[in-house]
Amino acid sequence: MGETVKLAAGRSYLAIPGPSVMPDQVLQAMHRASPNIYAGELIEMTHGLIPDLKRVARTCHEVAIYIANGHGVWEAALANVISPGERVLVPSGGHFSTGWAQMARGLGAEVELLEHDLHSTWDLAGIENSLKNDPEHRIKAVLAVHVDTSSSIRNDIAALRMLLDELKHPALLMVDCVASLGCDRFEMDAWGVDVMVAASQKGLMVPAGMGFVFFNDKAAEVRAAMPRVSCYWDWQPRVNPQEYYLHFCGTAPTHHLYGLRAALDLIHDEGMENVWARHQRLAQTIWAACEVWGQDGGSLRLNVTNPAMRSHAVTALHIGSPDGTRLREWLESNLGLTLGIGLGMASSTSPEWHGYFRLGHMGHVNGQMVMGLLGGIETGLQALKIPHGSGALEAAAKKMAEG
Ligand SMILES: *Cc1c(COP(=O)(O)O)cnc(C)c1O
Repeated sequence: MGETVKLAAGRSYLAIPGPSVMPDQVLQAMHRASPNIYAGELIEMTHGLIPDLKRVARTCHEVAIYIANGHGVWEAALANVISPGERVLVPSGGHFSTGWAQMARGLGAEVELLEHDLHSTWDLAGIENSLKNDPEHRIKAVLAVHVDTSSSIRNDIAALRMLLDELKHPALLMVDCVASLGCDRFEMDAWGVDVMVAASQKGLMVPAGMGFVFFNDKAAEVRAAMPRVSCYWDWQPRVNPQEYYLHFCGTAPTHHLYGLRAALDLIHDEGMENVWARHQRLAQTIWAACEVWGQDGGSLRLNVTNPAMRSHAVTALHIGSPDGTRLREWLESNLGLTLGIGLGMASSTSPEWHGYFRLGHMGHVNGQMVMGLLGGIETGLQALKIPHGSGALEAAAKKMAEG
């Protein structure tokens, strides 16, 4: 093995935390001529997407669809409820929380960013402190990332809602579910989330380019009281529009919509509870292998120590520089397996950056794919003579076989 025998031909596996693997059904649904955007089946089909999207988010409220990636819907959500000079509170859990905070600053908001270590969920006491220090309720929204894809921390959204209620603080609870929707359990209405943003290319298994802003009545009231909202981001004309054209403030993202139709069919045929349970078991299988690799002098570490705080969609790992990069590069060129780069844990110009990597296991992923992913990593560790505990694949198989 090694220098001469390459084993990368065959179907490759992009195991990065977004874009995720696309189902053949999605690809086939998109492979067609452009439909009429003024009349006909596209319009009916789009109407049918709305209730099915809401079922994924567990909400009976509204959803607006944007031609945008996750960054776009960050801005869309903020543009509807935050005016320049207004204040938002952002508990940080990694690269994506700080990214959303940055977006809010760009719109002129006053941002209070609560820094936190990147190995465990946010510090509720710190959030409580900030909310209590705001007796005049100047904080208009709390921007919370459910799963921060850089650290793979999963935050407790329901606990944050309880805290806001206990303190009788009226701030909107705005949640980024770009990584978690369709992977980690999320209950928009039951958890009292006012605004939620998601994008197409992760748990929803569609190419990047379409984003979603879900919002409830409280958020709609805040929007209605805004002095102005930029036309393109305004969510009002996008929900229940008089004309189809207004849904998207222009031409519909025709092919993405067909792809989304196929993806939502897959999700609802499987059932939300089953989708969540599958992601949970696949994640537990991955953790079981990672824990063994870290034994007997192995340096591999799961970024989040407490399993209850880990996402089921993505796993962030540290193995030490330069082995993270060596492993990724070896797997891609020798096995056709691509792992995610480390993000936000070390500066991309520092040598430590090469010590981190991530596994994406969101969306269209099943048991044999995860065993292939783990078998690939085991092979890379052996080929590169990176010290690691032995028996990881057996531990993974045992966990998966628990049924
Ligand atoms: C991927 C991701 C984003 C950004 O999405 P883009 O489509 O890359 O703009 C934002 N938040 C989280 C949690 C993500 O995982």
